[in-house]
Amino acid sequence: MLAFAPMATTPMMQQYHDAKQACGDALLLFRMGDFYELFFEDAKTAARVLGLTLTSRDKGENPVPMAGFPFHQLDGYLAKLIRAGHRAAVCEQVEDPKKATGLVRREVTRVVTAGTLTDDALLDPRESNYLAAVCIGGGKHGSASVRAASDRHAPERASPERASPERAGSERAGSSRSAADWVGIAWAELSTGRFYAAEFPRWQLADQLARIRPAECLVAESAASGFPRAREMMVTARPDWAFGHENALAALTRHFRTQTLEGFGFAEEDSLAVRAAGAALEYLKETQRVSLDHLDRLIPYKPGQTLEIDEASRRSLEISRTMREGKRDGSLLAVIDRSTTPMGSRLLADWLAAPLTDRARLDARLDAVADLRDSAPLRDALRDHLRGVYDLERLLARVVTGRASPRDLSFVGRTLASLPRLKDPLAGRPAALLEELRGRLDECPDLRDELARGLQDDCPLSAREGGFIRAGYSAELDQLRELASGGKQWIAQYQAQEAQASGIPTLKVGYNKVFGYFIEITNTHKDKVPPQYIRKQTIANAERYITPELKEYEDRVLNADQQAIELELALFQTLRDRVADSAHRLQAVATAIAELDVLAGLATLARERGYTRPVLVDEPGLKILEGRHPVLDILEPAGTFVPNDTVANAGSILLITGPNMAGKSTYIRQVALLTLMAQIGSFVPAKTAEIGIADRIFARVGASDELSRGQSTFMVEMTETARILNTATARSLVILDEIGRGTSTYDGVSLAWAIVEFLHDRIGCRTLFATHYHELTDLAKSLDGIRNLNVAVKEWEDNVVFLHKIIDGAADKSYGIHVARLAGIPREVNERAKQILAQLESEHLGEDGRPKVERRSAKRRRGDLQMTLFAPYDHPLIDKIRGVDVNAITPIQALQLVQQWKQELDAERNN
Ligand code: ADP
Ligand code: MG
Repeated sequence: MLAFAPMATTPMMQQYHDAKQACGDALLLFRMGDFYELFFEDAKTAARVLGLTLTSRDKGENPVPMAGFPFHQLDGYLAKLIRAGHRAAVCEQVEDPKKATGLVRREVTRVVTAGTLTDDALLDPRESNYLAAVCIGGGKHGSASVRAASDRHAPERASPERASPERAGSERAGSSRSAADWVGIAWAELSTGRFYAAEFPRWQLADQLARIRPAECLVAESAASGFPRAREMMVTARPDWAFGHENALAALTRHFRTQTLEGFGFAEEDSLAVRAAGAALEYLKETQRVSLDHLDRLIPYKPGQTLEIDEASRRSLEISRTMREGKRDGSLLAVIDRSTTPMGSRLLADWLAAPLTDRARLDARLDAVADLRDSAPLRDALRDHLRGVYDLERLLARVVTGRASPRDLSFVGRTLASLPRLKDPLAGRPAALLEELRGRLDECPDLRDELARGLQDDCPLSAREGGFIRAGYSAELDQLRELASGGKQWIAQYQAQEAQASGIPTLKVGYNKVFGYFIEITNTHKDKVPPQYIRKQTIANAERYITPELKEYEDRVLNADQQAIELELALFQTLRDRVADSAHRLQAVATAIAELDVLAGLATLARERGYTRPVLVDEPGLKILEGRHPVLDILEPAGTFVPNDTVANAGSILLITGPNMAGKSTYIRQVALLTLMAQIGSFVPAKTAEIGIADRIFARVGASDELSRGQSTFMVEMTETARILNTATARSLVILDEIGRGTSTYDGVSLAWAIVEFLHDRIGCRTLFATHYHELTDLAKSLDGIRNLNVAVKEWEDNVVFLHKIIDGAADKSYGIHVARLAGIPREVNERAKQILAQLESEHLGEDGRPKVERRSAKRRRGDLQMTLFAPYDHPLIDKIRGVDVNAITPIQALQLVQQWKQELDAERNN
């Protein structure tokens, strides 16, 4: 390490402070020779997080804490810092220390944050890495613009008598619509150049973030404190002005070189989306300090086209992460991912995050999977060739940000060269999508040939040492290389020429490190040495000389090496620019490869696990025969998972009762997961499956079943249930697991009861409700479309065996007492329990064995709930209203009637 003068005063320390000032709260990694050093508080943090030894500079009066590591370990340490939730600014020496006069110039070349990574070493190849920015509504936005936005987002699926779910939701919740109810979200992936923005109702914020799963999220300083925190998401506060409308619009139009954003499909009213996008772009510019040309358009995200899954449902269905540990392993994504390339894995994650609702698109995917599943040679050929493909998306990102190595470029070339093999087997396939993908695999022949001609087979990771441009690519380079390698030909010819001129046949040209090139003449010929020879060295029996000609040649040789390296670097940069210029085309190729990979992976999975092609229909019902839980089916020992049927008409409610560990939760989740899989275009684990396309999937787990979450779980459970009741539509699929369990039994039963009634009467969506509240099974007696199911159990040698088979009918209600007997609870206790049960039942059940609950008229239609929710349906007023002949009374009389009724109601309330 270098020796230091007192720090506060040195010019270098001044340089340090300047750099530090410019990089905000990022840790500054300050390059000094072969080390990166951190100082002051940064050093302490780094010592803690990275396990570095904390030393100090200037041990005198004001010791400065310092910690550092060798430069070649940068990637590893950066990864650790980012994972620990820090930002890091890398300050490099931007000139050669040997050439510098005085202090070496240093500059912060990039700021690395969780959402702006591009280095392979710091990224999980199977995961997208998004930076998001959230602009929360409110303030200066007129309600007109907000209303326009809401109309655009209103999904087409809303049924005639119901407004859009968003609207219905907020109306039911009694809130008024204003700008404050909306958020703009933008999300960009630096490594692929994808850049999206949209506006969402504010209550969807957590859901959207759960779908996008950004690694880092930008939010205005003033909104940061109340911002929802999520596992694996770093929240970065930005100054409020960064989200200002003018600022954002200017940044975006400058970047895209456009006048407005209308060409991308954004209108003036999309102000929140634009503001978020502007903030994201500025942040990327600030942290990256390189070209962001590959972010070449801003894509308006249209939420109406996808199956929506809120954050809690995503979590409880364990779609891409397990619930307890938050790991990818054990999630649906992990078990169905058979992709060959990281691009495929990332795309599959995207598909699962946003399944489709468009049957035509889904059928196209399913056709392709079917075709690939049925043709083993095609599938094997594709997967084989896909293995030869590199991660084109991430390579491109490094190319356009100027961080690509010669090896990266050669990988781009090789990937292009492998395309014909990939395309070949796709020709003439019955599935239209495969043919389409074949067309999208643009071989970019000129670029491919150029890269093949220019780059050697094994290219180095750094362009600095040269040696990677192929011979024959540049005549100038070939000459320089010949010269640099010592130019044997020239030496031989010079030696021959001098030997002849001097008449000394043994004259030799040699080389050593101290004197460079020399002419050696043995002492025998000492008298014939030409006068222009300059003597340099005497050895045992010879003298060594140099000539001006030889020295000039020597200079050229020595420079040639440097020149060759410089020329290679220039050629490399030209090649890199050529690739960058084609980034758009290559990006499209990458997407097509990823899609092909996902489809081939799904086909492989379908073949291996005996999946069936789901039949997608519009009528929102379900008819699954011998369905299996996709994750347990794979994780449990082969042949042990018990398949089950699920048959539900549109609006059916299936109530599943049964003891603990019977398989209720597994069964209902299975239905949600199969629906989800069908809606990404995957085959499903079942014998046959007819699935009505769902617009939303809700999955809620009762409080005590969800151990991982902390306090006030019942409140959480109810908040989430409220969301279902407020936003589900007739096309939704609702999975409720032990809802109501988080409170006392009576409370719980009553809530669960009312929730089922509401879903049945008001929403009419397919619902699977697993519960151990036996009381609920009585609902089937009064409401059509509610069916009781239970899980078969068998007694065997005083043991209960769970058969995991779902059968018709309610579970045996005194099951608990029964199990207690088997477990050896004293007979006396058991008998007593039976008595108590009988008594409880007689108190709560009517003569007919049904619960003594106010009956709700079975004739009542959906949609007129407001009345029944808050008052008994058969109110005397109702009859009075019915009795009025509206055509026979005057407006004044009508008014009087209303007043009279109101008085009656008020009197009733006061009684
Ligand atoms: P419940 O919700 O009724 O308490 P779970 O659905 O949690 O029960 O299932 C308990 C365990 O039973 C699961 O972890 C799984 O090991 C097993 N299981 C559930 N369903 C099946 C099935 N269909 N086939 C085989 N094993 C099953
Ligand atoms: Mg359960």
